[in-house]
Amino acid sequence: MTRMGLYCSRCSMQIPFRYQDMKCVCGGTLLVHYDLESVAKTMTKEALWHRSSSMWRYKELLPVSDPDCVVSLGEGWTPLLRMSNWEQKLQLSELWIKREEQNPTGSFKSRGFSVAVSLLKESKVTKAAVPSNGNAASALAAYASRAGIASFVFIPLDCPSLIVEECPLYGASTCLVDGFIHDAAAIIEAGKKDQGWVNVGTLKEPGRVEGKKTMGIELAEQLGWTFPDVIIYPTGGGSGIIGMWKAYLELKALGWIQCDMPKFVCVQEEGCQPIVEGLRSRRNGADRNALPSVQAGITSSPTGMRVPNPPDLDLILSIVEQSGGTAIAVSKQQIAEAGQTLGAQGISSSPEGSATWAGLLTLCDSGWLSPSDSVVLFNTSHAMKYAASGVPDSLPIIKNYEEYLRLRNA
Ligand SMILES: *Cc1c(COP(=O)(O)O)cnc(C)c1O
Repeated sequence: MTRMGLYCSRCSMQIPFRYQDMKCVCGGTLLVHYDLESVAKTMTKEALWHRSSSMWRYKELLPVSDPDCVVSLGEGWTPLLRMSNWEQKLQLSELWIKREEQNPTGSFKSRGFSVAVSLLKESKVTKAAVPSNGNAASALAAYASRAGIASFVFIPLDCPSLIVEECPLYGASTCLVDGFIHDAAAIIEAGKKDQGWVNVGTLKEPGRVEGKKTMGIELAEQLGWTFPDVIIYPTGGGSGIIGMWKAYLELKALGWIQCDMPKFVCVQEEGCQPIVEGLRSRRNGADRNALPSVQAGITSSPTGMRVPNPPDLDLILSIVEQSGGTAIAVSKQQIAEAGQTLGAQGISSSPEGSATWAGLLTLCDSGWLSPSDSVVLFNTSHAMKYAASGVPDSLPIIKNYEEYLRLRNA
């Protein structure tokens, strides 16, 4: 077993492995610690050539110790698509999109829940619950059902209806919450003892960060074991940023990659931008205890980026700062236009994925990106999940070709 225990991302204290309660006594987040020497014995660059096209190809760097407990639906190893035309237009050395929408549940949440649910199975847990803006709920529902575990999901009322509908389809007990994701989280915390739920919310357990870590490893492998200069990521709770950062620390510690860490850019939608605000206050000298607490005045759309209180904002900010990255907020309008631009290139992107394109354009305009930069965007889900149910009113309805012609000639 390569999993050794947990360490605190803030004070570095080490403790034995556990699958719940990821807060260190110092307030930092506990992360999984591996025996990298034993990882290196069986996980080599050459050995990977012969492994499955799934994120479990990196099993030595995942925390599940019993292979029979791995719960998989075919997640990971998503395409990395080059956007050559736009490299010239935007004057970038390389521009890539990681197509995370192609995961089994239609979003990159599959990765985190594949690992989280495997750990639940290993620990013989029978009931799991999650607060979610939709994609985490449907991923928990799918993986839990696959593992024979009951799932309970709590989703804000205004979240995309198709994603909500998916949850009972995958067999989850599904409740809509009149509030935000933190209100949904409060329901689970209040009920978990009586109901016997294990909370698999962001940073409540170790598996989701580890699963998202595979995005980082995979990206490095697909780029021939190098890092891109810049990663633009639509950020909500931040487990993807934390996971990819951890991936790169581990790849460096293994001696597989020597180049500089990529710069992490967090993109959020205006109207819920705690990372943008947090970074600004840190630049103005505020310490971690004085970070603004964003609760009121949330006006952004119900997407995975709408997380007013990320569970470890301090860790996200430290990563962004250490990497030399930044955080930006983009408007609804910019996101909608970006979705059209990506759509016109054959790429179905969710608002979160579109936000990374909008962020890219902003950073090109401001001169933050330079012509020598290689940039990777994360398309974390596809447009279909966010479509309204029913046909759009704006589209014409016809019965036959005559009507079509009449319409076109009108
Ligand atoms: C959850 C989610 C995000 C935010 O990801 P984090 O790693 O939690 O910050 C972005 N996009 C989509 C589609 C999501 O479901």
